[in-house]
Amino acid sequence: MGSLNIQHNGYHADVEKIREEEYPMLKDSIYLDHAGTTPYPKSLMDRFAQEMTTNLFGNPHSASASSQLSTQRIQDIRLRALQFFNADPADFDLVYVANATAGIKLVVDAMRCLPTGFDYVYHQASHTSLVGVREEAQSSACLDTRQMEDWLSGSYPFDNNEDAERPILFAYPAQSNMDGRRFPLSWSSQIRRQCQSPTNKRKIYTLLDAAALVSSSPLDLSNAQTAPDFVVLSFYKIFGFPNLGALIVRKESQDVFSSRRYFGGGTVDMVVCLKEQWHAPKDGFLHERLEDGTLPIHSIIALDIAMDVHAKLFESMERVAGHTGFLARRLYQGLKALRHANGEPVCAIYSPDPETEDSGPVVAFNIRNAQGIWISLAEVEKLATLKGIHIRTGGVCNPGGIATALGLEPWEMKQNFSSGFRCGTDNDTMGGNPTGIIRVSLGTMSTIADVDRFVQFVEEFYREDTPPTLPPPETKLEPSLRNTPELFIKSIVVYPIKSCAGFHVPPGIDWEVRSEGLVWDREWCLVHRGSGQALSQKRYPLMALLRPNLDFTRGELQVTYAGDVSPLSRLPSSISVPLSKNPKMYAPKKSGMSSRVCGEEITPQTYASAQINDFFSTVLGVPTNDAGRFPFA
Ligand SMILES: *Cc1c(COP(=O)(O)O)cnc(C)c1O
Repeated sequence: MGSLNIQHNGYHADVEKIREEEYPMLKDSIYLDHAGTTPYPKSLMDRFAQEMTTNLFGNPHSASASSQLSTQRIQDIRLRALQFFNADPADFDLVYVANATAGIKLVVDAMRCLPTGFDYVYHQASHTSLVGVREEAQSSACLDTRQMEDWLSGSYPFDNNEDAERPILFAYPAQSNMDGRRFPLSWSSQIRRQCQSPTNKRKIYTLLDAAALVSSSPLDLSNAQTAPDFVVLSFYKIFGFPNLGALIVRKESQDVFSSRRYFGGGTVDMVVCLKEQWHAPKDGFLHERLEDGTLPIHSIIALDIAMDVHAKLFESMERVAGHTGFLARRLYQGLKALRHANGEPVCAIYSPDPETEDSGPVVAFNIRNAQGIWISLAEVEKLATLKGIHIRTGGVCNPGGIATALGLEPWEMKQNFSSGFRCGTDNDTMGGNPTGIIRVSLGTMSTIADVDRFVQFVEEFYREDTPPTLPPPETKLEPSLRNTPELFIKSIVVYPIKSCAGFHVPPGIDWEVRSEGLVWDREWCLVHRGSGQALSQKRYPLMALLRPNLDFTRGELQVTYAGDVSPLSRLPSSISVPLSKNPKMYAPKKSGMSSRVCGEEITPQTYASAQINDFFSTVLGVPTNDAGRFPFA
């Protein structure tokens, strides 16, 4: 490959070639969810396969050659992984864990076993996995950046400071997984200095969640005095593979783990369990006491190869940072520049401007139309999916960050919850306001073309070029409505099958409105035969191409598939479902098969006809789905 060709401002033009050769799975996709996970290069998978087929790796607990090979490699890779973060093995130990979350849980597992328990302070931009720690603490406080700075300059986050014995765990993300905002790495050492001051006798441990930062930036732990006590991260976010994480512990603080009560296989030198209950934890390295059970040997081997391949392709994390930083500025500026014809911005951006603030390659935003009305996230995500664009929308596991960005008060979030809003569902605007964000995140192999195509996508679908036309003033309206010409119904669309295309109610016909809504709206749904769950367009975007037509003369619902039908599949391009509710059409009810729709538990009646069910299964490529009818319809 030779040295990377830097085009300008840190952008590596060679990435385009690497992308083509090494990431075949990205062909035809615009992958913008690197904060979720990053794709893995082909040569990593090829080399891994080769390593697995040439060597025999045993469980590292015996003298056999295969076992010894594993033991040796696991140890070498541990040191190499520490080096990746400039961490001296004399000062730090690295514990292999499943992911960043598992690393957090190990720390909490130890701290809650301290005789006094612990108090917990976390920054408001924390990932859900850090927020959950508060449930194990005696008391907890969530601080924003201003309160954080107050704390650093001497004010105290807890009212009652009586239990001076009880240590504090302070956790924060190095980079927010929601909007890419970065927080000073110096906080750990500042807090440590604070707690050594004569006025403050409580011990403070710091936990840095580096999961988002390390995916596109170097993390330098070369100074053990100023480093956080615990650092957690997930390797799949840097290399795409393996699914493995690390907890890096500053040895000076490793005593916290002596309080941990649980012990698992591999962590003890001796256990007595019949007449007496006694055990001796391993007394060597910390990781020997914390790695419960068999290590993920093959994943650890893959990590070694991942580091090799990453270095070969991208040289260093500094270079990755330069490249992604350049793209982030371009993305931010591109989205910011989009304006409707009336001058209003298209995007409300929550991320800091990467030009002026230290931040990761992430842009979090929402879209508004020319009148300032928020566009539904589910709609943006579905359209993006159809265009081969991979983005993340919603609450992105960052409750404090979202509430701050959107100005949501706790009562609003609770009210949204009571009205059926849940993490990970389609229900995304409540009371006219967004409940989540659109997150676009860039990574190592992102290119200028990805950025530009995404900005074009937003422009093409959401920028309004011409001012909206108001209805002509002489439309036939009830006399009482004459004075409010802005209120008129242009058309009514019902969605007879949940998540499929809509049906335009023909003009001039009466349409009944019932207490549950417009008649024939969401009368049917498609349910997964295995789980009984209603299928949604998010998982099955082809549902958008299933077009229902209500034919009252024939008494049937006709469903046409508007996509390409393979001539081999012998699939009819449409199917009819009777409108009548003759019980003979339905399959016998299976117990325990209920679906969740908009937060409500329902048991749909499913059709017995193989013809009907096969039509939908074949179109969507789900071997086991049923057409069902809502019982309350
Ligand atoms: C991804 C992420 C996590 C969680 O990582 P897991 O691999 O799911 O444990 C935690 N914090 C941040 C900032 C993240 O980006």
